[in-house]
Amino acid sequence: MAASDFEKAPDPFAAQRARAGLNCPSCGSSHIAQVLGDNGGVSYVCTACGHSWS
Ligand SMILES: [Zn+2]
Repeated sequence: MAASDFEKAPDPFAAQRARAGLNCPSCGSSHIAQVLGDNGGVSYVCTACGHSWS
């Protein structure tokens, strides 16, 4: 029997989000909306708690 590897990554998407920086720094939610700022930059808004950052 081959050992299962599934238990090593209960949430593989969490690692992807962490690398992309798409977790809310306030509440940790991954429900993030990307918005354009006035100066042409990119900002992020957490749709869970409303926290915004860039
Ligand atoms: Zn949040």
